Amino acid sequence: MKPIQELFPFLALEPKRVVVTMHQKPDPDAMGSSLGLAHFLRKLGHEVTVISPTNWADFLKWMPGAKDVIDYEAAREKADAVLDEAEWLFCLDFNAFYRTRWMAPKLESMKCVKVLMDHHEEPHTGAFTYGISVIPKSSTAELIYEFIVNSGNQKLIDIPIAECLYAGVMADTGSFRFPVTTASVHEMVAVLKHTGFDHSKVHEAIYDNYLENRLRFIGHVLMNRMEILYEFNTALIAIPKADILKYNIRTGDTEGLVNYPLSIQGIKLAALLIDRDEERKWSFRSKGDFDSNSFARKYFEGGGHYNASGGRSSENVEENVKKFKIALKEVASQLQ
Ligand code: 5GP
Ligand code: MN
Repeated sequence: MKPIQELFPFLALEPKRVVVTMHQKPDPDAMGSSLGLAHFLRKLGHEVTVISPTNWADFLKWMPGAKDVIDYEAAREKADAVLDEAEWLFCLDFNAFYRTRWMAPKLESMKCVKVLMDHHEEPHTGAFTYGISVIPKSSTAELIYEFIVNSGNQKLIDIPIAECLYAGVMADTGSFRFPVTTASVHEMVAVLKHTGFDHSKVHEAIYDNYLENRLRFIGHVLMNRMEILYEFNTALIAIPKADILKYNIRTGDTEGLVNYPLSIQGIKLAALLIDRDEERKWSFRSKGDFDSNSFARKYFEGGGHYNASGGRSSENVEENVKKFKIALKEVASQLQ
């Protein structure tokens, strides 16, 4: 993978057909960085299509350009046709093709220029022509911001780009709270603010945009599905399929749920298990020096960041809970 700067001279040379894609079930950083990059590349004259491997949460639909994003699962033929024509493929906010689910074989087989822009651990750099992967970066949105600025195009940052990038960095830093929120993050936000965009509107669009059922579901889950394992300074929430159906839970409704138990004194690890249609999905969040990326990688076929990671399993909820508790015993010393 060549450094991303080597792409700069080509940005203004001739218009290219570009596809920007992201990880499945995109979060605000995946969608915001992809749309921010798309707006920027269009301003340089490129023809850009954004494709998501799956559907996305309602709270992302306000983003400028979101209505034109193609959902690969819902419109596969259309997406494949666009991918077949692509000259540049930008892969944002994921470290390996498997994170794009059913799209992965297609992306792997493509012969065009492939660009990785990401901040997850252990990127598959061998699969990309150009790229940048900076693990300590707050967000992929910050990488896109630096891409725009370092290529000499800061003046092209306008309100739609600012809104998209702000949403990404806001969400991935826990609203500017996590340790990754460096001085550079705040400096970037200052530059974005100078476009005149309304940051309160972005917070409301993302965090105050749920339906009543989601809040009732959280009440139920915190009351009845949360187990505190004080011996391991760990909280576990395991949600059976019946709860998902009863409360009519949709994509995005469980976003943020894993963070609640971290507000309990002394909790170092919070784990959330959701019984999805085809697999069990794990989310892990840790505080301080517990490496949740390694934990997810070792026990649950996943990965991510040091303090935030995810995984999956084809086994049922009970088996997963059992496996989790055995794993906790193995890592107990790291949780003290
Ligand atoms: P979430 O719990 O929100 O699904 O994921 C937390 C973080 O870990 C996100 O940055 C997400 O992209 C990443 N992540 C989730 N699942 C996986 C996985 O299976 N592999 C890798 N490498 N990262 C993951
Ligand atoms: Mn991210």
